[in-house]
Amino acid sequence: MTDKFFDYIRLALKLNFNKDIKSAAPTELYNSIGKAFNAVCSDFPQNEDEKRACYFSAEFLIGKLTKSNLFNLGLLEKTEKMLAEQGRSLNEFEDFDDLALGNGGLGRLAACFLDSAASIDIPLDGYGIRYRYGYFKQTIVNDEQKEEADDWLKFTDAFGLRKDDDAVEVTFRNEKIRAVPYIYYIPGYENNRMNKLCLFQAEALNDFEYEIFDRGDWQDAFSPMVSAMTISANLYPNDNSEAGKILRLKQQYFFTSAALQLILKRHIDSGKSIHALPDSVVIQLNDTHPTIAIPELIRLIINLGESFDTAFEIAGKVFAYTNHTVLAEALEKWDEKLFLKVVPDVYEIIKMIDERLRFELKMLNLKPDEYLIIKDGAVHMANLACYVAFSVNGVAKIHTDIIKSDTLNQWYQLYPKKFNNKTNGVTQRRWLALSDPELTALISKLISESCVDNFNDIKKLEAYADDEAVLDKLFEIRYENKKRLCNYIYKTEHIRLDPDFLFCTQVKRLHEYKRQLMNILSVIHIYLSLKSGELKKINPTVFIIGAKAAPGYKIAKRIIEFINVVARKINADEQTNSMLRVVFVSNYNVSCAEKIIPATDISEQISLAGKEASGTSNMKFMMNGAVTLGTYDGANIEIVQKAGEENNYIFGLRENEVREQSKVYDPLSEYESNKYVKRAVDTLTNATFLDENEEPFNDIFNSLIDEDRYMVLKDLPDYIEKKLKAISDYSDRRSFFRKALINIANSSDFSSDRTVREYADDIWFKG
Ligand SMILES: *Cc1c(COP(=O)(O)O)cnc(C)c1O
Repeated sequence: MTDKFFDYIRLALKLNFNKDIKSAAPTELYNSIGKAFNAVCSDFPQNEDEKRACYFSAEFLIGKLTKSNLFNLGLLEKTEKMLAEQGRSLNEFEDFDDLALGNGGLGRLAACFLDSAASIDIPLDGYGIRYRYGYFKQTIVNDEQKEEADDWLKFTDAFGLRKDDDAVEVTFRNEKIRAVPYIYYIPGYENNRMNKLCLFQAEALNDFEYEIFDRGDWQDAFSPMVSAMTISANLYPNDNSEAGKILRLKQQYFFTSAALQLILKRHIDSGKSIHALPDSVVIQLNDTHPTIAIPELIRLIINLGESFDTAFEIAGKVFAYTNHTVLAEALEKWDEKLFLKVVPDVYEIIKMIDERLRFELKMLNLKPDEYLIIKDGAVHMANLACYVAFSVNGVAKIHTDIIKSDTLNQWYQLYPKKFNNKTNGVTQRRWLALSDPELTALISKLISESCVDNFNDIKKLEAYADDEAVLDKLFEIRYENKKRLCNYIYKTEHIRLDPDFLFCTQVKRLHEYKRQLMNILSVIHIYLSLKSGELKKINPTVFIIGAKAAPGYKIAKRIIEFINVVARKINADEQTNSMLRVVFVSNYNVSCAEKIIPATDISEQISLAGKEASGTSNMKFMMNGAVTLGTYDGANIEIVQKAGEENNYIFGLRENEVREQSKVYDPLSEYESNKYVKRAVDTLTNATFLDENEEPFNDIFNSLIDEDRYMVLKDLPDYIEKKLKAISDYSDRRSFFRKALINIANSSDFSSDRTVREYADDIWFKG
């Protein structure tokens, strides 16, 4: 395969650019490698008869494609060697090669699932949208977040394979558009499995209205094209918040209708009856974003001549639903009128589903209120999903418990058997093998087999917990990773860091429940304590924070601004900056996660207990040997259960305590009764960090004092105590890296290989 692959690269370069490997521009080389990869992949055998699982997701946050694609095919090393001989390198693709069609955890999960399913030989295909502009690029200007479009297609889409033959039409109330699929091959890791990601692009049926142009209305002649393009133009940059825009609903309908048409066509063309659909496909809905697929499938089946009841029954065997959040502001509901305006035919089907539900509830003598799909003028997507889907799952044990007892309790009462837990996971191929090859090599050497193949074997590493040579080696590998990260941060942020420091990191979307504000307040406390002499010294530590805020989320953007102001002042203070640094890493994304995580000593996972469904960066850090400084929330609980509380740093209220507190919590008294809390919080508005010309952060201050919805002030003292303990424990380097080793050794359950295996066994291919 290798020779063929290299031949294809040369051929693509010759045919498309009239160049060879030496003379090609980086984008030309990139493009040709993508084309050669696709040519190799298309030769893999496809089993047309097997039942396939389809992952419907509005987001796929993949990141760089080239290395992981070549890695899985076993071509990575050979390609790098071949390129090096020609004076070239895959690292030339640093500034492009990034498929960022997702916001954060939810989209990255979809990408991890695709990699894992293919690698453990499970037929899983992804379906989504080929956004013209992905997740926005963040810059920091005068301490504030600025957003720029992610114009990823500017550099060519090397891996996308346009399939005009499979284009379908999608009908909205007053327009019909074309959905053109682009295929991205998903190879399993050295196993001959070839799955696919299918992303749809919206296009006009007719790009250009000749008659209108002829009349002289030149711009109007293109208006059908512009109107259609708009649908797949932009990824909504919201995480854990409902967008509620017409265009968003159009996007959801656009890709799910197109995917279902393609899936149905394949099924019917193979000569099978529509009644046998559940034997050939199962569809996993990644949150409620693709839930409109349920009425759409029913509509399409009715169009084939079946009754509503039959169609409903088939749909009930095809769909499974994953819930990702308990935050009320993220539960999707659509204005009924808006729905009617965009997709009236689908709305009619939803009404029929709702009537059927009302009838069933009446038979059962249940009061309909909390179940209804259509109520108070809105369509409730989670109720639609829970009613029709045959499986409803949460994404970590605590999260599933909360949706059962609270968020979706009414449905749990009615259909207890539908509910199940599938704790999230991350792919060790991207998040360990590719992002930390030295660590991977060490582990593989110690356990005398590849830790990538069978990740469960990583447990054998625990035998080396007291091997001082191994612990020292872990330190050396971390040190090299820190040096690399320092170079990267110098290049991107123009801040010089020292690899001798302890690296303490919080990287994730900015949201109040994730409490980046609590993080910076703890740093401020440490800073002020060093200044006042209350703390004599600490092990030199750099606090790294990376986060994008949704452009419309005002307070989140103000928190970013505050962090940048504080970082600038603290880094400039010569009295403390040999012990304390703060860096805000701009434009946090998958590629920069791959550099930050292997260089981190302490992973900050500090959401208010009960709010983070699972978290997945906690797992990436664990696999790379960072210890967790975190709350009893999401998958942190399972991480600590596996790796031992003594090897991590847990603080703060438990979920039941949060519930008790919520009735009586008084942030003002926390502020007034603890002088350290008060001292840190007061820096939001006093002159500690603010120059005369700088606006005080009254809005953040007030949000803490008036409400403090996520109990930052309540958890702050315990958080500071555990953080200082973790930093001080670093003095005993070997005992610190012993903790790191035990975390790595116990991370196998947090591989998405395990997660996807469970989805396959319990949901997709059960029985
Ligand atoms: C893993 C990942 C996330 C999810 O992080 P959480 O801490 O689980 O919220 C978000 N963004 C990127 C780029 C990631 O790689």
